[in-house]
Amino acid sequence: MTLTPSLFIGLALLSSSLIAVVNAHNDTPALTMVGTTPNVPKNIVIMIGDGMGPAYTSSYRYYKDNPETAAVEQTVFDRLLVGTSSTYPARVSGYVTDSAAAATALATGVKSYNGAISVDTDKQKITTIMEKAKALGLSTGIAVTSQINHATPAAFLTHNESRKNYDEIAKSLLNTDTDVMLGGGQKYFPPTLIKQFEAKGYKYLADFSQLNVITEPKVIGLFADVQLPWAINDKGAHKLSKMTQKALELLSRNQDGFVLLVEGSLIDWAGHNNDIATAMAEMDEFANTLEVVERYVRQHNDTLMLVTADHNTGGLSIGSNNEYLWNTDIINGVLNSPNVIASLSLDDDNWQSQVSSKLGFELNSDEVNQLTLARMQGIDVMETAIKKIIDLRSYTGWTTKGHTAVDVQVFAAGPASTLFNGYQDNIDIANKLMSLLPQNAKLKLNTTNSEQAQNN
Ligand code: MG
Ligand code: ZN
Repeated sequence: MTLTPSLFIGLALLSSSLIAVVNAHNDTPALTMVGTTPNVPKNIVIMIGDGMGPAYTSSYRYYKDNPETAAVEQTVFDRLLVGTSSTYPARVSGYVTDSAAAATALATGVKSYNGAISVDTDKQKITTIMEKAKALGLSTGIAVTSQINHATPAAFLTHNESRKNYDEIAKSLLNTDTDVMLGGGQKYFPPTLIKQFEAKGYKYLADFSQLNVITEPKVIGLFADVQLPWAINDKGAHKLSKMTQKALELLSRNQDGFVLLVEGSLIDWAGHNNDIATAMAEMDEFANTLEVVERYVRQHNDTLMLVTADHNTGGLSIGSNNEYLWNTDIINGVLNSPNVIASLSLDDDNWQSQVSSKLGFELNSDEVNQLTLARMQGIDVMETAIKKIIDLRSYTGWTTKGHTAVDVQVFAAGPASTLFNGYQDNIDIANKLMSLLPQNAKLKLNTTNSEQAQNN
């Protein structure tokens, strides 16, 4: 049997109706319809939950579960899941990656050593997807909750032999021609450097409330000295969602397309701190941002969203102490990050009721004794003691203050999203994304690279 055009269309219609049936079981309408969606995207939104290993998306599901209903409700992550990815760095760094090597892999398709910012193991610069996009006439942008010169965004935008060279990395962003940069990091951008950005046509923002009204095509917005506030201490602010919404609005004016990197940077930081309440609030804001982008993809069928994590952090365990339990009501009841609760307790003679009200439960006598001892030893010991109580009551476990090498998940929607189905390596993600950039535009990569070599 040969596939005649009419039979082919018939099959396409059949698969289209199958997609509609599958999606009828979800709350959300079909994201893509066969026949109307282009095969390759015009725009790509890459979203990275830093440190967001599989235990984070699972625990987030239970954290958000409505206990009044029989079902455990699906999250945006469940809805968009398509595959998995390994995260190991170049051989020289073993199996456990850091964020710099992982972002280098995701941005360039080349594995490097831990600490590398888009340079290879010989410390030679590797072209990033953002540089390729720029050379093809696309617009580029980032929206992150860390400082914008931190490892993940840095590896997408620039090159350095070490992620720790924060000042060099900040300066080098001047020569990247990135259209929209939103996040934290005022500390690394002194007024003289900001003047240089302005001379290149950038509008500089330091006040988050200004973001709303901005219409300039080139923007550098730094809304904190270093990282943005923890979401748990900044309720209702939705800063990552709002930065992402604004970046989409500004970048979508380019008729040739754009590449946007969005990072939930602080999921990782909360994981390093072994701080479950703070981690879940960061996950919630990242999930909210996924929904902003998912809505955009639904309204613009030429846009691909690709979401993953760079690695897992903290060895988070959903259950601990040999019990078959994970108590989300404890985690949901915590009103501030443990470091804020610890700090309040040091300044307050009536600290026991202060801590109880912030934690959302009455402290028992053992807990009061532990905290009394910890409080005398200062804020750090107090914070650790508060986190330990939250972990014990919620049955949350951690295996490390560092990273682990478990595979992470891949989520996607929009044109070519099926390319990311199943198992892949992190460099495969980069190579697939780069294969989706428009190839018909004039390639000026060699000149771009040599210009940058002179500027850096
Ligand atoms: Mg990061
Ligand atoms: Zn980390």
